[in-house]
Amino acid sequence: MATATKSVIKPDHANRRRHFIFTDEHEDLRESMRSWVQKEVHPHRNEWEETLWPDSILKRAAELGFVGLCFPEEYGGQGGDYFYSLVRAECMSYSGSGGLNMGFAVHTDMALPPVELLGTDEQKRKYLVPGIKGEKISSLGITEPGAGSDVAAIRTTAERDGDEYVINGSKTFITNGARADFIVLVTKTDPEGGHDGITLFIVDLKDDEGNLVPGFSVSRKLEKMGMHASDTGELSFEDVRVPAENMLGQEGKGFYHISWELQGERLVAAAGCVASAERMFERTMEYALERQAFGRSIGKFQTIRHKFAEMATQIEAGKQMTYATAWRFANGEYPVREITATKLFTSRMACEVADECVQIHGGYGYMKEYEIERAYRDVRLNRIGAGTDEIMLEVIGRSYGL
Ligand SMILES: Cc1cc2nc3c(=O)[nH]c(=O)nc-3n(C[C@H](O)[C@H](O)[C@H](O)COP(=O)(O)OP(=O)(O)OC[C@H]3O[C@@H](n4cnc5c(N)ncnc54)[C@H](O)[C@@H]3O)c2cc1C
Repeated sequence: MATATKSVIKPDHANRRRHFIFTDEHEDLRESMRSWVQKEVHPHRNEWEETLWPDSILKRAAELGFVGLCFPEEYGGQGGDYFYSLVRAECMSYSGSGGLNMGFAVHTDMALPPVELLGTDEQKRKYLVPGIKGEKISSLGITEPGAGSDVAAIRTTAERDGDEYVINGSKTFITNGARADFIVLVTKTDPEGGHDGITLFIVDLKDDEGNLVPGFSVSRKLEKMGMHASDTGELSFEDVRVPAENMLGQEGKGFYHISWELQGERLVAAAGCVASAERMFERTMEYALERQAFGRSIGKFQTIRHKFAEMATQIEAGKQMTYATAWRFANGEYPVREITATKLFTSRMACEVADECVQIHGGYGYMKEYEIERAYRDVRLNRIGAGTDEIMLEVIGRSYGL
């Protein structure tokens, strides 16, 4: 008969619990990138709310290899898998600046991936290579004043004229719009063609001297509730001429191309939501242990303790959902329903966590000097950007044939 072991198994709450999708290499990146964000980015978070994040910080990130993580080595990237994008989004959460994180993500995870997937070798050398070096900044132009959720209703046109296309129309809410060197632009080449009339172009917004190209202007710089470190612009295109070779992907297939782009964008947004919820949780935990009321730390009241327990459970659910879905995406599946559900769940979850964290801070949570006040405003965008909650519900519902 076997003798019973004398060792007692106890819960190990301090375990780092590395998820199985990540390797030692991913964890090495996490350590070095987090340390960089904490040392060189976080100290500037307040200043950049006033001045916007400087282009030089993207260049610095590029020098350190943080921009090219998932792009092919032949274009200056490191050729890593999709999980590196998640690690990057998670590390950026230590910046304390949602606006900076969004500006970076638009470049690394929204505008450059379609250039890499759909671009010709020439386009990749002209736009992806300097993008990876941080020498050119990119933006993505889908939304228009008259069409946001309803992408097929966009009215910006690209009309063929010899070896060029002539672009007319306007885009709004464009992140990096005022600073970008080029934009991945969603246009209509066949205004009567519905979903099949949409085509993508890479459009230079500045010439080699840094002047705006003829016909392009930033008609308005928009003031926002949060994300103040990020510039958001309304862009106008009046007879902007683009060489035909700047068409990205196939003519008339832009709707499907951009739908693919949105999947990666939504997963990275989900990783950002989970990470930002974790940072809010950690900061609020510190506060709750320090703040005294009725002779004890407020974190020791059962009501507050249960708020933390609820938040921890929601964060963990969002994290597992994100990682499991990312694993499927990275392994060749196209799990649109799951990505959509993950984006919906994590953005709602992050907003709920922000709200509870403000509550636990009491009056201090309403004060600008506490980071939770900014995080609360910044995080709200996630239920709107990259597709609203209502559109996520539509996509999920329709995926069942309803
Ligand atoms: C700070 C910021 C940065 C952004 N950055 C970019 C960017 O870089 N590039 C870019 O292209 N866009 C960007 N956007 C735009 C963003 O993606 C859109 O705001 C979003 O897709 C919603 O579009 P809309 O604002 O036109 O709202 P609308 O589409 O007008 O929706 C208004 C409301 O109606 C609901 N609604 C619409 N259709 C339906 C439906 N079928 N069923 C049920 N409800 C519906 C929506 O859910 C929403 O609640 C940004 C937005 C913000 C605020």
